[in-house]
This record gives sequence, C-alpha cells and structure tokens, in this order.
Amino acid sequence: MNVLVWYKRDLRVNDHAALSMGARNGAVLPLYIAEPEYWALPDTSARQWEFVAETLAGLRRDLADLGAPLVVRVGDAVEVLARLCKQNAVTRIVSHEEVGNAWTFARDLRVKAWARDVGIEWLELPTGGVRRGVRGRAGWDAARAGYAEGEIVAAPALRVVAGIEPGVIPNARALRMVADACPHRQTGGRAQGMAVLDSFLGQRGLGYRRSMSSPLTAERACSRLSPHLAVGALSAREVEQAVMAQLAAKPGPDWAANLRSFQSRIAWRAHFTQKLEDAPEMERVAMHRAADDLPGRAPEGPLFDAWATGQTGLPYLDACMRYLTATGWINFRARAMLTSVATYHLWLDWRAVGQVLARRFTDYDPGIHWPQIQMQSGMSGINRLRIYNPIKQGLEQDPNGSFTRRWVPELASVPDGFLQTPWKWPAAQRILGQRYPEPVMDVAVAARVAMGRLRQTHGFAGDAAELIERHASPAQNPLFFNDRKAGLRRARPVLAGQMCLDL
Ligand SMILES: Cc1cc2nc3c(=O)[nH]c(=O)nc-3n(C[C@H](O)[C@H](O)[C@H](O)COP(=O)(O)OP(=O)(O)OC[C@H]3O[C@@H](n4cnc5c(N)ncnc54)[C@H](O)[C@@H]3O)c2cc1C
Repeated sequence: MNVLVWYKRDLRVNDHAALSMGARNGAVLPLYIAEPEYWALPDTSARQWEFVAETLAGLRRDLADLGAPLVVRVGDAVEVLARLCKQNAVTRIVSHEEVGNAWTFARDLRVKAWARDVGIEWLELPTGGVRRGVRGRAGWDAARAGYAEGEIVAAPALRVVAGIEPGVIPNARALRMVADACPHRQTGGRAQGMAVLDSFLGQRGLGYRRSMSSPLTAERACSRLSPHLAVGALSAREVEQAVMAQLAAKPGPDWAANLRSFQSRIAWRAHFTQKLEDAPEMERVAMHRAADDLPGRAPEGPLFDAWATGQTGLPYLDACMRYLTATGWINFRARAMLTSVATYHLWLDWRAVGQVLARRFTDYDPGIHWPQIQMQSGMSGINRLRIYNPIKQGLEQDPNGSFTRRWVPELASVPDGFLQTPWKWPAAQRILGQRYPEPVMDVAVAARVAMGRLRQTHGFAGDAAELIERHASPAQNPLFFNDRKAGLRRARPVLAGQMCLDL
C-alpha cells in the first residue's frame, strides 16, 4: 500500500505516530503543503513561515536519511492531495489531528469530504494529550499524564514511494507574503530546538522561576522552546520526558522547583489547546458574550496604531511592543500586559489585538493564543480580571530602566526617576510631542473607565469609581490584600466578578 503522511504542526521524525503508522502500512510519501490562502490570513506572518521553512529543510534531511525525503507542494490542500494520491496510487492518508485556527478547521472538513467522496481513507491520530470528540474533562488529566509518560516512538526506516520530485521549499516572497522584518528571530529546525532544550536543562533553567517575569532576564531564563513546540519540531512528550529524567537524577531543591514549574507550563499547553479543540469558535466568539457586546471597541484607528507600533507614549509598554516586533518573542507577563492595556485601557477589539500579536509571535499557536487572549481581555467570563498597569510593570520589571532605554532610545536624556513617566519630568517638552509621543491616555483614568463599563457585565458589587479611588491607597483598602506568595494584589470576593486591579 502507498501511504501519504501529511505533515502539519508536527515537523519531526521522532515520536511521530503518523509516520510510524505509515511505515508499518507500506511505502511512504511524506508531504508538507504550503497553502497560500492560509499564509495570507491576518494571524499569520512571514516570520512564522520563515521559521517553518527552516524547520522543513531539516525535516527533509532527516526523512532522506530514513529513506524518503520530504515532498513539498504549494497550493490548495484538496487539490494537492487529489493530484498526488491519483498519480501515486495512494489509498491511505495518515496525519495528526491539527488544533489550528478556524481556517485550518474548515480546510480539514473539506479534505474529509473529498477523501470520503473518492474513497481514500484519512486516519487522524491524537496530538500531544489533546482529545478529539470527547465531551467534558472527566479523566482528562490522567489521560494527558498517560501520554506524557508513554513510550517515545523512534524514527522508523521508510520505504519510499518512488519517482516523486521533492519540490522546492518556497520563501515568503514566493508565497506573496507581506515583508516582515524580524532581525532577532529564533532559527527553526529540530537541531536548534534540541540545542535550546539542552541549554535550558543544563544551565539556563536554574533561574527560570526567579527570572521569568521581566523580559530583561526571561530572554535567557525561559526555555525558548515555544516556536519549536508550535511547529512540532519536538513533541511535548520529548520535552516532558527530558525534564522527568532530570528530576529523577535528584538535581537539588533549586533545580527541582524550577523544573516542576516548567513542567506545569508544558501541561498548561495541552490544557489550553484542549479548550480550543472543544470550542474552535473561540478565535471569533467571546466566551463571555455580554462583555463582548459592550459598545465602542475599536478594531482599528489611531489608538490601535499607537499600540501596535510601540508609540503610545508609555515607555515600558512601547519597549515591550518594539522588542516583540524585533525578536518575535516576549515573556508571558509582557504578553498579558500588552493584551490587557489594549483591551481594557484602550478599549480595543480583542480579535484585532489578538491578530496583531499572533502575527508578531514566531511561536503563534492558536491552541494557546486564543484562550489566552480571551482570558487576558476579560472575555472568558470565568477568570479573574487582570488589569495590568504599564507604569507599575515598568518600575517593577525593569527597575534600572535598561530594557526601556534600549528599545525606546528617544528617552536617552530622561533621568531615571522619570523614565516610566516622562511627562512628569520638568523638561519633558524637549522630547514629548517631538521625538516621542505624549501618553495616549491617563492610565488610572482609562482603567477607571474600563471598570465602569465592565461593571455591567461582570457584576462588581462596589461602584467602579469608588474602587479606583480606593485602589490609589491599597494599603488601607479592605478590598485588597497582598498575596506575597503569588506577588499579586488580589481583590477579595466582595466582588462578584473577581479582579486583579493594577497588576
Ligand atoms: C496573550 C497571550 C498570548 C499567547 N500566545 C502564545 C502563542 O501563540 N504561542 C505560545 O507558544 N505561547 C503563547 N502564550 C503563552 C506564553 O507566553 C508562551 O508560551 C511563552 O512565553 C513562550 O516562551 P518559552 O517557550 O520560553 O516559555 P516557557 O516558560 O519556557 O514554557 C515552556 C512551554 O510551555 C508552554 N507554555 C508556557 N506558558 C504557557 C501558558 N501560559 N499557557 C499555555 N502554555 C504555556 C509553551 O509551549 C512554552 O513553550 C501566550 C500568552 C499570552 C498571555
């Protein structure tokens, strides 16, 4: 039998159930389809494609070593599959289930209908602990743990479907993608992913928990595995088992605490991906419909542009956006702050905000991204509202100002004490409105307005204005207390809809 193994977000040969099944069934045609319609979507970008293309080049070498080099075709999935299956007498397609965006979901439905019509069997295998077609979460944790601890399947020897031209891996320009300069982007490829994993587990991970919140230190202390996991150059199980092996070697309490914290994030990955798998409309439809129905949210305009280009006049916020634009990556806390300020203070539309961020992330992974965007913008309806204060974040996460100064060089002459609030500097007129913008908003007022609007839909017990007034002196505020362990100032459940104000 000739079997086509369809590669999507699983660009590796190791621990690849679909490739192993294909090898057991017969001669293998491993295929990746570069779909121009997908790469023209507003949540995709050239930086993502370039990372994929680098990973594909390595995958092609790895598959060639096993006996069947990767075939790459550009075009519509149904058309490409129909042509290749017909020309090469393929009777079975094997792939992993893809938890992608709404477009890939609809494409898979088209492929399914076509395969049924022409009598080709398409087998889809589960991905990374995520379950398809199962209602509810009963038994989910155990099943995911079972996946994580399961056997890592070695790369199989392959019999090739002979006589197929491998095809060129196109560049972004050939796919007619918009230019997208990202000078400090991570490089794709399994070898690069393995090197990143080794350096994290061998050295960098020791500072993980302590250093993850500031982009200054997170760049080195976080694993940086996200783009490799997003394209599947490494499986989540490979990463988890490497961590388990290190924990089993009893590396000492510091290492153990850091590794466990990292391990829980790998588990969150599957948890959030399962959310999108269960509700694929999450990319477009808010879970908390009433919050989404509130009027006035802008999907574009001057405020939107100021946020997206790092020109809001709020130095740390702008530094984070510019850093993300130049590197394709930023740490979790900064991602949450960028989303929070855009959707609370600036009252922008969460979908448009999510699309801008998705394009900037080399590691864009719909299964993590859309549930997080809904959560950080107050659209999930089940999570605590987290309103980040970009001035406070700047003071806490960039205490000596070096990150802000590097990415907002217009502020070089501003003294340290005014770096996060340059408009308070007596000589501000030298810079503001000329080299660097005036702030687009008063952070406290904008938070108060957002709270006032959200009060209708989140059922706060107190008056929003009163809350804000109190929050100005949280030490005396009975509504707030300092949770030192979590490092967060939390609202007591006096509020029906819980919230974290001024994070
Ligand atoms: C608004 C928003 C959007 C996000 N969009 C994405 C996205 O598109 N792609 C993406 O990979 N991550 C996304 N994240 C989650 C997180 O910020 C990144 O995974 C992390 O910063 C990547 O860096 P790292 O690999 O060094 O992470 P590490 O801290 O080393 O974590 C290891 C891995 O665990 C997973 N992970 C980490 N944090 C989370 C989390 N909170 N939820 C689910 N999985 C997690 C990722 O796969 C990550 O690579 C988003 C977070 C927010 C707040």
